[in-house]
Amino acid sequence: MNKAIEASVGGSMRRRHVLAAIAAGAVVLGFDPLRKTWVRAAEAAGGCDAFDHLPDLDGTVYQDVATRDSVSTDQGNIKQLQPVAVLRPGSAEDVAKMVRFCKRHRIQIAARGQGHTTFGHSLTPGLSIEMASLSTIHSIGPDGAEVDAGVLWQDLIFAAAEAGLTPPVLTGYTKLSIGGTLSVGGVSSTFGRGVQIEHVEWLDVVTGSGVLLRCSETHRRRLFEAVLGGLGQCGIIVRAKVGLVQAPAFVRLFNLVYFDNAQLFGDMRALLARDELDDYFNLYFPYPGPGGWGAQLNAAIGYDAPADAPDASVVLRDLSQPASAATFVDIPYVAYVTRIDGVYDFYKVTYAWDSLIKPWFDVLLPDSTAEGYIAEVLPTLTPADVGTTGFMLMFPIRRSGITRPFFRIPEDDGTDFIYLFDILTSSETPGPNPAFVELMLERNRALFELARDAGGTRYPIGALEFDAADWAAQYGDSWSDFRQRKQQYDPHDLLAPGLGIFDC
Ligand SMILES: Cc1cc2nc3c(=O)[nH]c(=O)nc-3n(C[C@H](O)[C@H](O)[C@H](O)COP(=O)(O)OP(=O)(O)OC[C@H]3O[C@@H](n4cnc5c(N)ncnc54)[C@H](O)[C@@H]3O)c2cc1C
Repeated sequence: MNKAIEASVGGSMRRRHVLAAIAAGAVVLGFDPLRKTWVRAAEAAGGCDAFDHLPDLDGTVYQDVATRDSVSTDQGNIKQLQPVAVLRPGSAEDVAKMVRFCKRHRIQIAARGQGHTTFGHSLTPGLSIEMASLSTIHSIGPDGAEVDAGVLWQDLIFAAAEAGLTPPVLTGYTKLSIGGTLSVGGVSSTFGRGVQIEHVEWLDVVTGSGVLLRCSETHRRRLFEAVLGGLGQCGIIVRAKVGLVQAPAFVRLFNLVYFDNAQLFGDMRALLARDELDDYFNLYFPYPGPGGWGAQLNAAIGYDAPADAPDASVVLRDLSQPASAATFVDIPYVAYVTRIDGVYDFYKVTYAWDSLIKPWFDVLLPDSTAEGYIAEVLPTLTPADVGTTGFMLMFPIRRSGITRPFFRIPEDDGTDFIYLFDILTSSETPGPNPAFVELMLERNRALFELARDAGGTRYPIGALEFDAADWAAQYGDSWSDFRQRKQQYDPHDLLAPGLGIFDC
């Protein structure tokens, strides 16, 4: 099967947008290297003609304030940085041409997926490239899907479902861009299949030199590895071939409730060791008892025919509480993997969720210390640490499923699992609120240092102040390798400046 599916904004809508922008004098024609400013139609008409003209593009570069404002923050609403221009590429070649153009003028560049990282990751003072305009699903088949980097996982889920297929690893919220999650890792409750970056056959990447290259495990492997989980430092993913597997028709989701951390860990480890589940995560909730937090265990198994539905007495056998204490629900597969999207759609409408401040905290912990860490941290947290629209979660990930060198996980402690612990804090009202931000960043730093002392690493999607020594410690033995690849693929240090990884 090889079917082209246009998931992008309609062409006529895009044309109308471009015409409106031209009328407003917003479209950029070139760059004046002497004055170090972009030249718009209005300036060119006023006689400014000594400038480096933009290359011919299928898409458009904008410099109007509204467009630049729309990409000047991210879901964290903590950092603000307005780019001087915004590219909405019409093709992969546009990205390559504009990177070469920016290289000539030493303009920093950041690809932006959905801007859902929370600490300025996708911000730049230079050129912001909105990957959402590259959103075509080119083909879908049992051997995988060929997709533009701006495609949302949700779009791929819906398209693949028509062929009975699904991406093997899905983030909880699926309105994230494929290029964005492949740049950070892509952690899921599908614990046995590793992270999303383990399920990529090849990538088309524009390097910091503006060269468009295809890379894979066997071809230009250094670039492939540098980009998967590489936080956009070594290249911009423009297209990918990602894996697909057969999707089950239904999922049965079992829930048990715990008020004791050791009991929860005991049952979780027993379930993971049996390897009979497809999905697992813990959701923490406040309760007015010792420790202040309870946990809902979520364990799920996919199945096709009603007769094959898994039985609680089998799945939840020999745990610390009887299987009869569990509740369960059967959900069609696509509804199951997109169920969190509806929650956020509701939050966006009801709580102005997009404008709330989100100082998220995310660490990966080794099995040998995770239980003690959670036991120590939970009693220090109050409901305000999470917020009405926040979540506190834990996801196990099978260690052997992770091979990419720049997705940094805790040192091997001889156990099978590591755990992602997330405090997805949301403020109660939209910002600005500098006092809240300061308090939360201090909290995150303290919790991170405790985690690092316990052998943990940062999952870099959240809000955490990091200096050069922190980045070096994060990458450990791989730090000099990462630096070398940065030097090789982005020699002028133009790409993804938001986190300041290579600032020193
Ligand atoms: C509600 C919500 C739920 C989430 N759930 C999960 C989850 O379950 N699991 C999980 O792992 N994460 C989760 N995240 C975090 C999410 O994975 C990251 O925010 C991810 O990077 C989002 O993709 P994005 O398209 O918004 O990327 P952005 O935030 O736009 O970009 C992230 C980084 O990647 C770079 N980048 C973006 N696109 C490209 C590209 N094409 N090529 C190279 N670099 C690029 C950017 O410059 C930036 O540095 C969640 C976030 C939110 C807001």
